[in-house]
Amino acid sequence: MKTRTPPPTLTEKYSGVPPRLASIAQQAKDRLYSHRTAPESIPRRHDVRLPPDTTREAFDEAIRMLRQALGPENVVLNDQPLVDGWYLEHPNTHDAFHMVDQEDLVCSAVAYPGSTAEVQAVVRWANEYEIPIYPISIGRNVGYGGSAPRVPGSVVVDLGRRMNKILDIDAENASCVVEPGVSYFALYEEIQKRKLPLWIDTPDLGGGSVLGNAIDRGVGYTPMGDHFANHCGMEIVLPNGELLRTGMGALPGKGGADNPTWQSFQPAYGPYSDGVFSQSNFGIVCQMGFWLMHETDHQSYMITFARDEDFPDIVEAIRPLAQKRILGNIPQLRHVAQELNVTGLPKSHWYSGTSPIPRDVIRKHASQLPCGDCSWVFYGTQYGDEASIKTQLDTIKSAFAAIKGYKFFLPFDLPTDHYIHSRALVCSGVPVLRELDWLNWKPNAAHLFFSPITPTRAADAKVVHEINVRLHAKYGFDLFPTLCVAGREMHYIANIIYDRSSASEKRRAAGLMRELIAEAAREGYGEYRTHILFADQVAKTYGWNNGALMRFNETIKDALDPNGILAPGRNGIWPRKYRGKGWELFGDSVEMAIGGTIAPKL
Ligand code: ADP
Repeated sequence: MKTRTPPPTLTEKYSGVPPRLASIAQQAKDRLYSHRTAPESIPRRHDVRLPPDTTREAFDEAIRMLRQALGPENVVLNDQPLVDGWYLEHPNTHDAFHMVDQEDLVCSAVAYPGSTAEVQAVVRWANEYEIPIYPISIGRNVGYGGSAPRVPGSVVVDLGRRMNKILDIDAENASCVVEPGVSYFALYEEIQKRKLPLWIDTPDLGGGSVLGNAIDRGVGYTPMGDHFANHCGMEIVLPNGELLRTGMGALPGKGGADNPTWQSFQPAYGPYSDGVFSQSNFGIVCQMGFWLMHETDHQSYMITFARDEDFPDIVEAIRPLAQKRILGNIPQLRHVAQELNVTGLPKSHWYSGTSPIPRDVIRKHASQLPCGDCSWVFYGTQYGDEASIKTQLDTIKSAFAAIKGYKFFLPFDLPTDHYIHSRALVCSGVPVLRELDWLNWKPNAAHLFFSPITPTRAADAKVVHEINVRLHAKYGFDLFPTLCVAGREMHYIANIIYDRSSASEKRRAAGLMRELIAEAAREGYGEYRTHILFADQVAKTYGWNNGALMRFNETIKDALDPNGILAPGRNGIWPRKYRGKGWELFGDSVEMAIGGTIAPKL
């Protein structure tokens, strides 16, 4: 296998990989590129994509003024060939996992502010020239749109490159304050360097922004896995340029210092405003506080179940364990098909056909893998001292014992390259890269996530699972469900892997996504997060009382952002200036745009 140029390390770049993972990252990159058949980049077909309603002259003048404000080196036109790169060398110009044409959802330029004051300057500039801006922190929101702005030609405000300081780690309060460019890798390494007995909580991949992931309401896998629920205090630039601190941060500290309880108490006084700055386009978050966890003993384990039909019983068994908090974290329940995928081997290794891999083929291969011929695989972790972990595991085993044929494994029962070892790290707050192996499944692979929420109840889980089984088969995609199961709700996350060099495969993936969203909504289930191209459709499913929630969001949007400059269309929230002018993507408009263009004919 060819060795590619080494990915940047954290010592070289704020978004790089820790030196401890450098060789793993190199192998991941080499493996990924070995499956690529599409060129790294193709010549641009179009010149700079201008913001809507702008002439080139007006745009050039606006860019000249922005360069004056930030310094010429901190405003870069997006006029070079687009390079998708890969996770650790990702673009900030477009969606590396493009669903529509690579050159369609692109920015006109990238601005790199170096301080909150400079973010305010960018916002004031955007209002003056009425140019839409789109903030990103690190821009690794893979599967949800990456760095791409929803309105082509927006100026991407890349906060991470120059605003990447860990502003504080308070060991006594077990909390920290970070800027947008601090990755899970960077925060973890700093805590190790300071030898603090604290854990962070990381998602499956550790390269994302701690702040960006939390405001997009991402999740992780320690007991503090709900990232937004474990934040405490924000500093936000509003779309009119005003600066806001939420929570106790609104009360000035003595002598101009930060408030001493900013990272101690979340809601402070009056309406709890933080929530409206998550999954929205109401402000640019420049600082955010987070709670950290105290390190503890922990034990990861894997349980396999024999039959596909056990699924409802597994869900029913998990619910009381989770509600009583016997389960230590949010466990994952995965279909055995994923055991093939997480080996990092391509689909062609297992199956030579082009159709979804048949169940009997999965069964045949699984029987040769450590999990054996099984149906569902449960990954959990327990926390506490040795004695309490033992009691917890005894309770868990006896709850699952009712399901015939279940098997229990500890990490040392499994080979050293088995996926459980990476889960054990993630579930104890150590950021890793293993989940990238998904992308070896197909050449030029990209993925979309379909992520509905259901109650933790067999009947509901079955409905959503059956919709997924039927529609994945209809559109010809392998079904890879991962269920993150809490006591009252579960995130059912289906990972739709497509070849981004194939327009027809993209069209099928978009069709599958659209129909999944629609069918789930008809049954009463909605998504917790989605790709920017499906945001309008998902937002519309939350339409109770003739769309009261969206009217509320639009009222806030119009009040805070009268010129509609901040991330128009993000999460389906369009400012007045854009509403009803053909920007919303409903029906088959994403499929129709593939190979064409996404912008409306105004
Ligand atoms: P990641 O955290 O994975 O690196 P991003 O930086 O791409 O992800 O952030 C995810 C999404 O959240 C972005 O597409 C953007 O819409 C929004 N976002 C990210 N950072 C900010 C921020 N500091 N202020 C407001 N919105 C942000």
